[in-house]
Parts: sequence; structure tokens; C-alpha cells
Amino acid sequence: MSQLTYSLTKQSRLAGKRRVEPTQGSLEQLTKSDLLLAIERGEFTLAYQPQVSLMNGKIVGVEALLRWNSPSFGQVNPGKFIRLAEANGAIERLDLWVLKAAILAARGWEAKGLPRVRLSINFSARELVVPDFVANVAEILAETGVEPEQIELELTETYLIGDDRATLSSLKRLKALGLSLALDDFGTGYASLQYLKQFPFDTLKIDRAFVAQVDINSSTALFALSILELAAKLKIRTVAEGVETAGELAWFGQQGGDIIQGYLFAQPLPETELEQWLAAERILSLPQPKLIKWERMMTRKFPPHLTDGKTDALPKTGMLPYPNGRDGFPSRSTAKKFVTWLRQGVTTLVC
Ligand code: C2E
Ligand code: MG
Ligand code: MG
Repeated sequence: MSQLTYSLTKQSRLAGKRRVEPTQGSLEQLTKSDLLLAIERGEFTLAYQPQVSLMNGKIVGVEALLRWNSPSFGQVNPGKFIRLAEANGAIERLDLWVLKAAILAARGWEAKGLPRVRLSINFSARELVVPDFVANVAEILAETGVEPEQIELELTETYLIGDDRATLSSLKRLKALGLSLALDDFGTGYASLQYLKQFPFDTLKIDRAFVAQVDINSSTALFALSILELAAKLKIRTVAEGVETAGELAWFGQQGGDIIQGYLFAQPLPETELEQWLAAERILSLPQPKLIKWERMMTRKFPPHLTDGKTDALPKTGMLPYPNGRDGFPSRSTAKKFVTWLRQGVTTLVC
């Protein structure tokens, strides 16, 4: 029972139900059972923040973000209650609740004929060492009948976790279920690079620390570029988190980012609002690509490693689509390689 003082209401005593109301105490004192009770009482809801492709501006995914409207504390900042839930052990139940609620919501959208989007769910690195966690996830997948490919689990890392072997084994088992895995808040976690080295993540979410003012701050840009290059080498999709300005959007487009998420396009939305956005197929208008003329001579072909082996697939001359590979390149990775060349100062390509 909580360290908070609780009073059983007369009504609930009469009904024989365990209904408790926190009457004093601070947020910091909340225990696991307080948070589990809040789940039971339906105090948690989900907001959904769209993720948008830099190829075409379309919504390709939504991240489910937990919201707690507590009768005692009002709207509680997720940063705060997630930290508490991680510390007191309620996080696993919370995250499983989120997983199931979001899947059921997504099934509802599909039943209404709305476009299908990938569903990103946060989970704490702590859960990877909880023995039944993977089995519980598998059970929810089976119970809801969702296609696991539609789900991406975002590994967030507020706490440093100890047992690497157990962590990696859980990640492998989650992957074996058919789920995608994303490394959240990349660049700020305790062991981000180590995770990336040891485990093939599908997505890397670039923390806002490397996104905010990237277009005007050269040191931020240096780090963001290095992260994009690392992701490209590892063939991992990138999501730039917390894009707020047109300048930041243009920068990620130009540098070959894949997806953005942020207030510029949408705040986390209540479910009904998200449904309206999906129904209207809202699109983020992308900045006009800056076109750079390029040319190649007939005598030599592009080396296969620059064209994914399709040496004849490139036109002889053309306009290099800068930022996002929308016209005429055989593959997105080829377009990215051109962008890499451009970064190195090449404006006319002659092979
Ligand atoms: P996160 O997973 O990195 O989620 C992104 C956070 O950035 C969200 O904060 C979102 O509202 C905020 N955000 C989105 N766009 C912008 C922007 O343009 N500018 C700024 N300044 N912020 C933006 P939120 O909802 O407060 O969540 C905070 C963190 O709490 C999340 O960070 C995640 O680590 C954790 N969290 C939220 N829901 C869950 C959950 O269901 N389970 C777990 N384990 N953690 C969760
Ligand atoms: Mg996240
Ligand atoms: Mg994040």
C-alpha cells in the first residue's frame, strides 16, 4: 500500500470495492500500486504524434505517447511519471497497457478504412531484463491479431541497465516476433552506441539535442551529420525528433534524413483528431528541392558501388534532386550517395 494517506470512500466500502483516493503526499511518493490503480481507473490515455516521410511528406507512422490525467495531480508530465514508474516497477504494466491500447486503436482506424500507418510504442530498457516481458508482448500480439510488422518498439533509456546478455537476448526475441526496433533519443542515452554496435536496430531516432537549430548551429550540424552517416552505413532508417522549424526540416531533407516528427507538422494528437488527419491524408509540404546540374561522360560508367550495381540506370545528364531523391534515381541509397558527394563539395559529377 502507498505511503500516501488514503481514505476509503464510504460508498466504495459499502460496495465492497477497493476504491482509494490519495489525499495528501507528493508525486515523488507514488508507489507501483498507485500507478496500477490509476490504470484500472482509466486515468491514462494515449496521444498520437505523426511521423512524416521526407520522400513525399506523407504520414508513415504514429508514436503513441502516454498521458496521465490524475484526479489528485492533474495532467502529469510524462517525463516525471515514466521516471517514477521505472523506479517503482510499474513501467512494465504501463507499457503493456500502452501496447494493447494502441494496437486496438489502430485496428479501429483500419476498420474505418483509414490508411495504415506504422505504430511506434515506447518501452523502457528496464523491461528487457524482466523475465516475462517478451512473452507478455507475444501474448498481446496473438490476442489482438495485429501484424507484428506494423509495430515498432522504441527502446528508451532513462536508466542504465546492467545485464547485457539478458538485454540482447530479449531484443533478439522481440525481433524474432516480427517487430521492428528503434533506438530512441539517440545520442543522449547511456549506452546508445554500444546498443547500436551489438544489435541491428531498424530505426534510429535522433534526439532533439541534435535537431534543434541544426540549420544554424554548426556544432549541432556536425553531430547530426555524423549520426546520419552512421545510420546510412548501418542501413538504418532515421527519424529526426522534435523538428520545429522549416529550417530544420529543410536541413534534414537536404542531408538525406528519412522521417521527421515534431511540432512543425503536428503535436501529439488525441485519437479522434489523429483519425481526422489520417482521413484527410494530410501531407507536410516539403521545401522545393534545390536542383543541381550534373553530368557524366559516356566513356566511363558509374562504379557499381555508387549505383547499387545498376550502372546504366543513371541518366547521362540531369538535375540532381537535392534534398530527397524524388526524380529519376534508381534507388534512395544512390540518391543518398550523391548527397554525400555534394557534402564533400562536388557540384558537377563527371565520371
Ligand atoms: P520520446 O519517446 O522521445 O517522445 C518524444 C517526446 O518529444 C514527447 O514528449 C513529445 O511530445 C515531444 N515532442 C514531440 N515533438 C516535439 C517538438 O517539436 N518539440 C519539442 N520540444 N518536443 C516535442 P512526451 O509526450 O512528454 O514524452 C516524454 C517521454 O516520455 C518520451 O520521449 C518517452 O521517453 C516517455 N514516454 C512517453 N510515453 C511512454 C510510454 O508509453 N512508455 C514509456 N516507457 N515511455 C514513454
Ligand atoms: Mg519515443
Ligand atoms: Mg525520443
